[in-house]
Amino acid sequence: MQMQCPCGAALEAPDEDALVDAAQAHLEAQHPGRSYTREQILFFVDP
Ligand SMILES: [Zn+2]
Repeated sequence: MQMQCPCGAALEAPDEDALVDAAQAHLEAQHPGRSYTREQILFFVDP
């Protein structure tokens, strides 16, 4: 699975749980102060 952050970063992971983790780690590192729920993150996923 993969998704693209609105900032343009591409994130990839083997499954949904890992992708949510990767997205949250990316948000923490690149967008401090922003947090998204699992549902919000999955909205950006390209199946
Ligand atoms: Zn980003």
